[in-house]
Amino acid sequence: MASKVKAVIFDWAGTTVDYGCVAPVKGFIDGFRSIGRDITNEMARKPMGLAKIDHTRAIAAMLPEPISEEQILKAYEVFEATLLDDIERHCDVKDYVTKTVAALRKQGIRIGSTTGYTSKMMAKVIPKAAEQGYFPDYCIAPDQVAKGRPYPYMIWKNLMYFGISDPGEAVKVGDTAADIEEGKNAGCRTVGIIMGSSELGLTRDEVAALSAEELKTKKALAAAAYYKAGADYIIDDMSELSDVIADIDRRLAQNAPRKLMTPGPLSTRASVKRAMLADHCTWDDEYKEITTSVMNDITQISADDNYATVLLQGSGTYAVEAMINCLCRKKEKILFLVNGEYGKRMLTVAEASRRNCEYLDFDMTRPIDIKKFEKKLKKDKDTAAVAFVHCETTTGVINPLEEITKLAKSCGKKVFIDAMSSFAAYEIDMPGLDIDALAASSNKCLEGLPGLSFVIAKKDLLEKSRGQSYSHSLDLFGQYEGLYAAAGKFRFTSPTNVLLALRQALDDYKQEGGLPARRARYMENHRTLVDGLEKHGIRPVTAPEHRSYIITTFELGSIDFPSLYAALKSKGFIIYPGKLTSMPAFRLGNIGDVYPSDMARLAEIIGEYVRAESIPVSEPDS
Ligand SMILES: *Cc1c(COP(=O)(O)O)cnc(C)c1O
Repeated sequence: MASKVKAVIFDWAGTTVDYGCVAPVKGFIDGFRSIGRDITNEMARKPMGLAKIDHTRAIAAMLPEPISEEQILKAYEVFEATLLDDIERHCDVKDYVTKTVAALRKQGIRIGSTTGYTSKMMAKVIPKAAEQGYFPDYCIAPDQVAKGRPYPYMIWKNLMYFGISDPGEAVKVGDTAADIEEGKNAGCRTVGIIMGSSELGLTRDEVAALSAEELKTKKALAAAAYYKAGADYIIDDMSELSDVIADIDRRLAQNAPRKLMTPGPLSTRASVKRAMLADHCTWDDEYKEITTSVMNDITQISADDNYATVLLQGSGTYAVEAMINCLCRKKEKILFLVNGEYGKRMLTVAEASRRNCEYLDFDMTRPIDIKKFEKKLKKDKDTAAVAFVHCETTTGVINPLEEITKLAKSCGKKVFIDAMSSFAAYEIDMPGLDIDALAASSNKCLEGLPGLSFVIAKKDLLEKSRGQSYSHSLDLFGQYEGLYAAAGKFRFTSPTNVLLALRQALDDYKQEGGLPARRARYMENHRTLVDGLEKHGIRPVTAPEHRSYIITTFELGSIDFPSLYAALKSKGFIIYPGKLTSMPAFRLGNIGDVYPSDMARLAEIIGEYVRAESIPVSEPDS
C-alpha cells in the first residue's frame, strides 16, 4: 500500500555508510595535530553532523586556549586532505540499508539525503555506495546551501526536488544530535539510529569488545542524546525503520485533516492551533496580562463594566455548575425552563447540589412556551431565579431570550442563561436586559479550543456571593477574587496553552469583523446546508422560525447513521448523532473554521451517499 510518508531523508556517514562514523575522526585529530594541538576522540566526535568547517570551529571552541582563524583554516585544510585520502575506505554500506531502502521505494517513498561532508567529499562517497547498491534519489552537501546543520535548508532542497510541500510527510534519519535538530528545524519527523552511529562512537571491533552491560549503558547514553535533541523515534538499526514508517502512517491517518460539523470541539484555524506552541506559567505577569485581556474582551462582547468575566478550567458544564451554585443562596428557588438535554443538564447540576429548584418541561422541537412560563410565574411567588438555555444544542432550537428575560425581570427574578452555543454569534444585551449571568465556553462560537469555560456575571452579584458555593473547585467567587484581585491569577493550574489559543481566537474574531461578520457567515453556512440537503429530500425537524443558525437537526429517515457517519468521515467530514426521542435524526453544526463552500460540498456528498444506497427519501418540494 502506498505510504502517506512521501520521503525519507538519510544522513550518510554513521547512518547509511561508514559503521561508527570513523572517517572524519582521524582527519580531525591529524588536522589539529598539524597546528600543535592534541584533541581526544570524544572532542573530534562531539560536533559530528555539522558541516565540516563548522565542525572544525566547534572543536576549536573546546580547546583550553583560543586559536586564531588562520590556525582553524590550517587545521581544516589538513583535515580535508587526510579525509579525502582516506574516505573511500570508509564507504561500507551499513546493515539492512539496501533492503530497507528497497522496501521503502516499494511503498512509493522517495529517498533523499543530507550530510556534513562537502560536495568534493561526496563525489567520492556516492559512487562507492552505489557500487554496493545504495543510491538515494537526491544528494546535497552543506556547501550548496546557505547554511549546513542544524539549519533545515538541505532537507528543504530535498523536499523541493521531490515536490513535497508538507515537511510533516518527510522523515529524517540520522546518527547525531545535529541530524535530529536539522530534521526538527525542517518540520520533519525524526529518527535516531544507535548501532554504528557517531553518537555511540564505536567501531564493530569496539562493540564486540564490550560486555553486554557496558554496551547497554553506552546505548542508553546515545538514546538520551537523541531524545534531548527532540527525536520522535529511536531505533537500534535500519531493520526497524519500516515499523517506524508504519507507525507514522497510522498517526497521519488518525489525525488526517477533517471538518467537524459538530457544535464543539470545532475545526479551528491554523492561527489558533499555532498559538498553543508557547509555554507559559500560570503566575507569570505576562501570562496574567493575557488572561486579563481575554476576560475583558469577552465581557465587552455582551456586557459592560458592571459585569465581569470569570474564567474556569473545564468544559462548559463546569461554568454552568459554578453559575448555578454560587449566584443563588441554597434556599432560594431556581426555576428551570427545559426544552432539551442541556436544559435537563442544568437541572441535574442543581439537583446534585440539593438546592431548592423546580422545572417546567417543554416540547423539545419547539422553543420555550412563554404563555406556560407566564402562568407558572404568576402562580409561583417564591421563585428567586429563572434559568434556561438560549440555543438548545440538542435540537438547534433557539429560545426567545428577550421575551423570557423581560418577563422574568418584570416579576423581579434573577436570570441565568446557558448561552454556550449562542454566545458571540447572537446579540445578547446583558445590561439592556438586566441579565444576571450567563455561562459559555471557549470552544463554540468563539472558535477556540476546549478546556476553558466562563461566566459573565454582574459584579455586585459576584461580590455578594462569597461563601455561597458548596464546591471549592467550582467556587465562582473564589475564582473571581483570584482573577481580579490578583490581576489575572488563576486559583489553580490554568490550561495555559488553551488560554493562548483563546487569546488568538478573540483576535481572529475581531479580525473577521466581530459578531456581525461571524453571524453573517454562520447564517449563510446554515442556509447553504439546509438548501443543499433539501435538494436531496433531507429536511430539518424543526420549523424555520424556530431554528438557530448554529446547529440543525435533520430527519434521518431510513438512513443508517453509523454507515452515513463512516462514509462522510472517509470524505473528511465528521457529523453528529441526533438526540431526539421522537424520531431518528442527525445533527449538523455549521460553526468553526467552516464556510459556505464546505456546506455545499457536504450536502453534495450526503446526496451522493443517499443515491448510491438507493435510500428512499421524501420528494423535494417543487
Ligand atoms: C456545549 C454545550 C454545553 C457544555 O457542554 P460541555 O460538554 O460541558 O462542554 C452546555 N450547554 C449547551 C447548550 C451546549 O451547547
